[in-house]
Amino acid sequence: MKSSSSAMECLYVPAWLESLLSITFFSLCNVHTEKAKNDCKMFCLDCNNHKASCVHCIASSHEKHRVVQIRRSSYNDVVRVIEIENALNISGIQTYRINGFRVLFLITRPLNPKKNKISAKVGFGCNTNCVMCTRIIVQPHVFCSLECKLMWTKQSESESFAIEGISRTMLSAEEEEELHKKLEPERLLERRQRPSPCAQPLPPPPFNNANSRKRKGIPRRSPLM
Ligand SMILES: [Zn+2]
Ligand SMILES: [Zn+2]
Ligand SMILES: [Zn+2]
Repeated sequence: MKSSSSAMECLYVPAWLESLLSITFFSLCNVHTEKAKNDCKMFCLDCNNHKASCVHCIASSHEKHRVVQIRRSSYNDVVRVIEIENALNISGIQTYRINGFRVLFLITRPLNPKKNKISAKVGFGCNTNCVMCTRIIVQPHVFCSLECKLMWTKQSESESFAIEGISRTMLSAEEEEELHKKLEPERLLERRQRPSPCAQPLPPPPFNNANSRKRKGIPRRSPLM
């Protein structure tokens, strides 16, 4: 008998998420070949076709659907937090402020091991490693991207993308504001690798805070009791 059945019940990965992370965006629409702005950068969360669409496709047949627009930052696909946070629990994922909007990366980016040296101290706003790929991110985040959170969720069965009953973010509004003041795009996009003021190197922290963010209202007793 599976001892992790209660954990499995909490595990929630929407069907469209794997598609969102595996699709190639920004190809040209083969329906709207004559139109301007026909690159396929839109993704409908409510349709089952799970494909990239252009704005003209979306305008013609996705009224009142939840649609996200994929954007590019340094050749990487990102999505705005405001477009996806109501559909997905993105807590724990590092966000960046680009052009005035908070965004997160869809896909894990390749690491440069030489540049990915951690220099961190314990405390708010200091560096840590993504628990999946070890990319340097800023505490209290634990994932560098949606893909890393998905991989961790499947592997550990300890995270969830479900929104109901869980706070969307681990931070208060003030903390968010404080954090994002520090997170200028130029720093976060790692064009510059300035030495961190954090002095003491630390190993990656164990990812043991799942219990501290447990879902309210769900009994933690074994279902076998
Ligand atoms: Zn189209
Ligand atoms: Zn749709
Ligand atoms: Zn990662």
